[in-house]
Amino acid sequence: MSLDRRTLLQTAGLTAGLIALTPSAANADVLTAADPTPPRGKNEGKGPFRKLVIRGVNVIVGAGGEVVGPVDIVVKRNRIDEIIRIDPNAPRRRKPHDADHEIDATGMWVMPGLVDEHTHTGTGNTPRTYAYKLWLAHGVTTVRGVTLAANADAVRDREAGERNEIVAPRIVNYQTPGSGWDGGQVDSPEKAAAWVSWAAANGVDGIKFFGDRVYGRPEIEVMIAEARKRELGTTMHHSPPIYKQLNAVESGRLGLGTVTHFYGHFESLLKEGREHPKPPGYDYSNEAARWRGVATVIDYTYPPGSPQWRAYLEEQLENKVNFGPTFGVYLAGRDLARVRGLDWHPRFALPTIWDFWEPSPQAHGSFYYDWTSEDEASWKRFYQQYFQLIHDYKEMGGRILGGTDPGFIYNLYGFANITELEMLREAGLSALEAIEAMSGNVAQALADPRGERPEYGTVRPGMYADLAVVPYNPLEDLKVLYGTGATRLDATTGDVRRIGGVQWTIRNGVVYDAKKLLADVADMVKAQKAAGACSNVDPDWSTYGPCGGSAGADIPPPAKPAARPTIPSRP
Ligand SMILES: [Zn+2]
Repeated sequence: MSLDRRTLLQTAGLTAGLIALTPSAANADVLTAADPTPPRGKNEGKGPFRKLVIRGVNVIVGAGGEVVGPVDIVVKRNRIDEIIRIDPNAPRRRKPHDADHEIDATGMWVMPGLVDEHTHTGTGNTPRTYAYKLWLAHGVTTVRGVTLAANADAVRDREAGERNEIVAPRIVNYQTPGSGWDGGQVDSPEKAAAWVSWAAANGVDGIKFFGDRVYGRPEIEVMIAEARKRELGTTMHHSPPIYKQLNAVESGRLGLGTVTHFYGHFESLLKEGREHPKPPGYDYSNEAARWRGVATVIDYTYPPGSPQWRAYLEEQLENKVNFGPTFGVYLAGRDLARVRGLDWHPRFALPTIWDFWEPSPQAHGSFYYDWTSEDEASWKRFYQQYFQLIHDYKEMGGRILGGTDPGFIYNLYGFANITELEMLREAGLSALEAIEAMSGNVAQALADPRGERPEYGTVRPGMYADLAVVPYNPLEDLKVLYGTGATRLDATTGDVRRIGGVQWTIRNGVVYDAKKLLADVADMVKAQKAAGACSNVDPDWSTYGPCGGSAGADIPPPAKPAARPTIPSRP
């Protein structure tokens, strides 16, 4: 999402949600985006251990299509030390015998901790710890923040996380040009170079570009070149105002690391011009019209399989550009009712983030207030070509990165990672390729700017012990990774049960009980409700959310809230 929009929406969330919370600000259980991440409590995770053994597992390695097992995994402190094949003739006398912690995971599956290429926190004024716990509960052990939070907060959490002092995934800190320093906006090539120099010295790992800021192609060109010199990564959301100057293939020529979202790909494939004709009523500042207009680009581009289509992908491959499709964040476009009615919202969506997502003609980003079946049909057509593009790039050897852009449009942290895996599967990647796209591939893309091999993202000796242990085989059904599980018929009783969810997430050698992390999040939701956060949620809209469509037993009956404040339109 664009930061403009994000900021505006945060403002919307703040105004709409947190005023209601002010009377209970004394309630220490209710944290906000501005609060520091609380220190890791005594009962939050065990370890790291001198020696930890995980017994009897099958392993999805995370690269090269490799699956091995059954094995025992030996972890020393925060690194995988050995992966030992189990000898079927001596199953009981397995080494090592001196572990100070053992996990009997016989028959379970271990995969690399997931690595998300595109993350944020703070939408709806939600605290970072909320996102962190939902990520870890879904086996996500590293996130590239683009941006995760203000630079000082992201750096502080990254360092504290590496010391296991907070409960959080590894943080890779990308920042937008001009953020963090006191040098003002980046509006010239000179300032662009100066900011990159400042960023490299102030804990920034890479740069996130947008297309609708004061900087344009000349500044972006300088920043990519400077970033490469200083071993920083780069990723770009080609927002439409940049199309006149840059599309995705041109950014690839400049040396961009990742094209994130769909923006810019199809503009590189136009038969005519640099932008496609827009439907009547198109207005970039009117988000409903804008989202409607986006999906019609495919009526003006060279079709899948054409020489131009192949030439585009071949050039991106030649330039080693990574594609981060973030399919899931656009799901409302093709099926609004589905994303509003997801199983996990009532228990795990904080009322303030729910309020932030609700459709509204006043709040920017809530584009779906009069979304029609015609709009959904248009987006469904668009998705087919977008899937095809990503699939074809993968087939040619291009690197696909799994990312979620969470916190926007009913896309909830952690749960969104599993949805993205399912959508990569829908695009034609195998389940194994989807998991690799969100582990080994992202880890490699993050290490590339330094010319290094990654230290996480695959389950191999020497790597950090960043692992997810799952009772069921995710290659047979990715849904077993959802915190709310998957449904299965119990053949003996005839009962339909929920099964699955990640059992343990191991991050930097610390073993977290994933179910307990989910329970912590459910408690945060309860605490916010108790503090009155539902009083501002419009009952006409919120049937499937945490506040219910009418007063629940634990919620005071909601008075119909006043009209949402009008948010000033974007500059
Ligand atoms: Zn984003």
